[in-house]
Amino acid sequence: MHYLNNYIGGRQCTPMQDEYLDDFNPATGETYAQVPDSEESDVELAVEAAQRAFPGWSRMPKKKRADYLLAIAKRIEERLEELALAESSDTGKPLGLTRRVDIPRAAANFHFFGTALMHTSGKAYETDGQAINYTLRQPLGVVACISPWNLPLYLFSWKVAPALAAGNTVVAKPSELTPMTAALLGEICQEVKLPPGVLNIVHGTGPKVGQKIIEHPDIKAISFTGGTQTGLHIAQLAAKELKKVSLELGGKNPNIIFADAPLEKAIETSVRGSFTNQGQVCLCGSRLLIERSIYEEFKEKFVDAVSKLRVGDPLDTTADLSALISKNHLDKVLSYIEVAKKEGGTILTGGNVVQVRGRCEDGYFMAPTVIEGLSQNCRVNQEEIFGPVVTLAPFDTEEEAIGYANATKYGLASTIWTNDTSRAHRVAHALDTGIVWINCWMLRDLRTPFGGMKQSGVGREGGFEAMNFFTEEKNICVSL
Ligand code: NAD
Repeated sequence: MHYLNNYIGGRQCTPMQDEYLDDFNPATGETYAQVPDSEESDVELAVEAAQRAFPGWSRMPKKKRADYLLAIAKRIEERLEELALAESSDTGKPLGLTRRVDIPRAAANFHFFGTALMHTSGKAYETDGQAINYTLRQPLGVVACISPWNLPLYLFSWKVAPALAAGNTVVAKPSELTPMTAALLGEICQEVKLPPGVLNIVHGTGPKVGQKIIEHPDIKAISFTGGTQTGLHIAQLAAKELKKVSLELGGKNPNIIFADAPLEKAIETSVRGSFTNQGQVCLCGSRLLIERSIYEEFKEKFVDAVSKLRVGDPLDTTADLSALISKNHLDKVLSYIEVAKKEGGTILTGGNVVQVRGRCEDGYFMAPTVIEGLSQNCRVNQEEIFGPVVTLAPFDTEEEAIGYANATKYGLASTIWTNDTSRAHRVAHALDTGIVWINCWMLRDLRTPFGGMKQSGVGREGGFEAMNFFTEEKNICVSL
């Protein structure tokens, strides 16, 4: 059995209490590693190490700091195959996806912020011949980064890289369900000789160790991605100490298809935008709203395409979908199929578990599922399911589409399909979501702001927004 370590003060460390959690492969159900079940004393060590490292790291010439981040990016690229396999084994997602998306994006995150830090600048204000004001953006100190299981290294690095780039030292915790690639990142930091304590990775559960990180008096800011309930809890803890928080939370994203949409592209992209990573992407569209005049045609073609998707072993390169993250999560997603039936929905395809033969017969697989006939205010259309389940509903007017789209407590992302440019912009302006895609999905430019409205979060990641979050802006006024 493989035992993972914490990475603290530049060293691989066993947890202080010598306690471990099982790390299982969702595609086979087998336990294949042991994850440190860390607690308060491990957090204490990590925060101390980060504090010791802060003066040296924050004052290091920018070029040198950038070189470390770029060296990490390069090692991620060089170890891509190994990282992609680890990510696929930990999450149950297709290996093709981790090779193509998860790991390249983790490298891109370090590359992006490694170069961005060379291009920061302050502002200056001349005050009527009396004074010059100028601003400094200074790092906060030791900050916390906490990430979920659905895009493990992708989101972990999306937080850690800007925090480090801005000159902070970091205590980070990946999800206890998917610790493997963060553990490998610890090894990579050793390989590139990142100064000890600059990044510290502590494994374990949210309530036992995540919360201790957040509550630690020397943690200055918290960047969190995860569920809305956890986010609300973290916001309350942080408020007691007035700590800065960035919260990227759940979603229930609408995908609006107008009658004048480029239909083939809309269908093909909507299939991907609904079921990538078994629907376990915060940006997946889960409510498809379709203009009534094309509803039947869209439905027929969409359901046909979905029913042809292959569910299979993550190592099988022909599989479109693989395993869900855990038995608990599979049961939760399946429970919504029963809710949908009670709420009057019709299952057009899927709704069942899938038995994959061979090494995956004990894995957590489910067929991609499409449901129609539900009202917009029912539970299935209001609650985040975070699995391979979408609903279809017709609308008659633009106003109705916008009303349905905005009718949940969430506001992360939305997609609009239309060839009418004016309408595309008009609807985009009216949607209560932090991200709107027009005639595309998940097309990302790392410079752009990323985040949600309403209960989908607080703050924005991406580009200089992310680096700004990890700094305090100071105004210095010089009398002339
Ligand atoms: P989760 O909230 O259960 O856990 C996220 C992380 O928080 C994990 O590392 C967990 O150990 C930790 N945690 C849990 N309780 C904690 C506590 N009390 N104190 C500190 N840390 C704690 O979420 P999850 O199930 O891992 O992830 C799925 C959720 O993440 C979905 O709701 C999804 O929409 C959301 N998500 C959002 C985005 C986004 O960018 N908005 C991206 C990906 C996932």
